[in-house]
Amino acid sequence: MCLFCKIVNKEIPSNPILEDDNFLAFHDINPKAPVHILAIPKIHVESFNEVSGELMGKMTTFIQKVAQEMDIDKSGYRVITNVGENGGQEVQHLHFHVLGGAKLKWGHFSDADPKGHF
Ligand code: AMP
Repeated sequence: MCLFCKIVNKEIPSNPILEDDNFLAFHDINPKAPVHILAIPKIHVESFNEVSGELMGKMTTFIQKVAQEMDIDKSGYRVITNVGENGGQEVQHLHFHVLGGAKLKWGHFSDADPKGHF
């Protein structure tokens, strides 16, 4: 069973902020911003590559509620999902990073030539 399935099953503790029948949101253990929440589906979906449009629709509503719950919906925030090796996905269970609580930087994503595909 994967790490986040164990968190859903409460075999591994987390610091949850919001939960419903289909989704769970909890604090990232290694926060990258004053607010750093992970929002996940309770069913095991490997990554964004595999998620259905139907589940993604519900997930969108859930992420909006996470932003409201953390009181960052008006001040602004960022939603990120890393996919696969190049995306830097470390946990193979779909998750959305919800980051906010301060002005976020827009970073240097890769050492490769950013115009390499033009
Ligand atoms: P990613 O690199 O997109 O797969 O992100 C995985 C995220 O999971 C990282 O930001 C980790 O800090 C976070 N993480 C790993 N283990 C735990 C845990 N037990 N509880 C909360 N967050 C975790």
